Amino acid sequence: MSPRLVPSIRVRLTAWYTLVLCLMLVLYAGATFVTVRHEFLEQLDDDLHEDFETAEGLIVRTPEGGFARASDRHYDPDNDDDRGTDVWAASGEQIYRSRASGALPPPALNAAATEPRYESSVANGSHWRTLTRTATVGGVAVVLRVARSEDRLRAQLWEILTVLVLGLPVVAVFAGVGGYVLARRALTPIDRLASEARRITADRLHERLSVPNQRDEIGRLAAVINETFARLEASFDQLRRFTADASHELRTPLAVIRGIGEEGLGETRSPAEYKEAMGSMLEEVDRLTTLVDTLLRLSHGDAGTVRLAREPVDLGQLTRDVVSSLGILAEERNQRITVDDSDRVVAAVDRLVLREAVTNLLDNAIKYGPAGSVIDVRARLDGDQAVIAVADQGPGVAAAHRARIFDRFFRLDEARSRENGGTGLGLAIAKWAVEEHGGRIDVDENPSGGSVFRITLPLTAPVDAAKHVHRHQLSGGRS
Ligand code: ADP
Repeated sequence: MSPRLVPSIRVRLTAWYTLVLCLMLVLYAGATFVTVRHEFLEQLDDDLHEDFETAEGLIVRTPEGGFARASDRHYDPDNDDDRGTDVWAASGEQIYRSRASGALPPPALNAAATEPRYESSVANGSHWRTLTRTATVGGVAVVLRVARSEDRLRAQLWEILTVLVLGLPVVAVFAGVGGYVLARRALTPIDRLASEARRITADRLHERLSVPNQRDEIGRLAAVINETFARLEASFDQLRRFTADASHELRTPLAVIRGIGEEGLGETRSPAEYKEAMGSMLEEVDRLTTLVDTLLRLSHGDAGTVRLAREPVDLGQLTRDVVSSLGILAEERNQRITVDDSDRVVAAVDRLVLREAVTNLLDNAIKYGPAGSVIDVRARLDGDQAVIAVADQGPGVAAAHRARIFDRFFRLDEARSRENGGTGLGLAIAKWAVEEHGGRIDVDENPSGGSVFRITLPLTAPVDAAKHVHRHQLSGGRS
């Protein structure tokens, strides 16, 4: 069915409601009719039974041995159009025949049949109900049949049926109209929500749907939609901030390159000066490349296209590897790095992704720790968690900044970070890498001055770890 032909919920609800109601009504009317008919017939049979008892005294034996109608009876079957009494002798000869029921076919005579026999039959277009049984008149067995016309009863049943059948379409119409009005009333708030939601476009994401009653279904739906808008708004804001920050970060090295170029073109210089200018330009290009690479890796992370290649990794060994690759930087600053990996901690992690996180932490500890300071790196077990901690003796991170320090491009000291070649993305990458492993990263005060960055990882790998078999695109350490 084309979408245009699909009826609205309102119409479908009304149709279903009417259909179900009509079905129930048909069933109800059918059951009512069958019950009433049964009751009527039972009543008729009871009446026949009474008639039979009356009729038993109607025929008497004459002294001559024949049969005659008792004259003292008030009831005269010959004067009744709806009732009749007929009597047969055992021999089959009809002893008595009343006017109304006389046209009915005689019963199959059996003088020995003592059980009452109720039957329905037709004569001259009229329906009759009869009761036939043997009776004893003056010591002689006869077959006695009483009859009552079913015509009036049938007419009454017919009337009842007509009322029931004719009433059905009327009820269906009322049910349809009522159902439609109800469905419209019930669905109007949804239409309102839809038109309100349509008005909330990307540049009006701060607006929300009105929630008249939080507790009913529509209110809950509106609340859920509002929550979705809130999340959308947060993502939009984050994206806007990120784009603005990224543009800003990209412009700085570009401006420097331009400056150097303009300066170089300004007046004739010696080859050595040109060489130096080109060297500076290349440095800025390297900076740009690093920045763009990091941004690309983060965007892969955001898109969820990075798959972890988990394997059992000795975290003590991993920290030792990182320390030995960054050791030269610490040496330049006369810093000492100690490693404590006395706990043997093995976790199912992606070696390269986690290594990058640890590298970024150690790199920061070296960058921000003062010359000659000590940096302690530790891999240890904490219950069912693995913890990698990097403690430095640097300026530390004020409590107010601890929540934001892992945000992209967030820097406490912009000039210093830049001077150290920082992009403001190192901690954001570390956070992403750790969270991708189901862990968390935080920063605390180092009791001996400075800060402690801590990575906490669950030792039991998430169930879907086996799915993460593809080699990720996030590789290599921080340049
Ligand atoms: P950057 O490239 O600037 O180092 P990061 O994301 O690695 O970017 O760090 C963000 C900011 O957090 C840094 O600019 C710095 O101000 C602060 N920071 C990071 N590590 C430390 C640390 N060990 N001690 C003090 N401040 C730190």
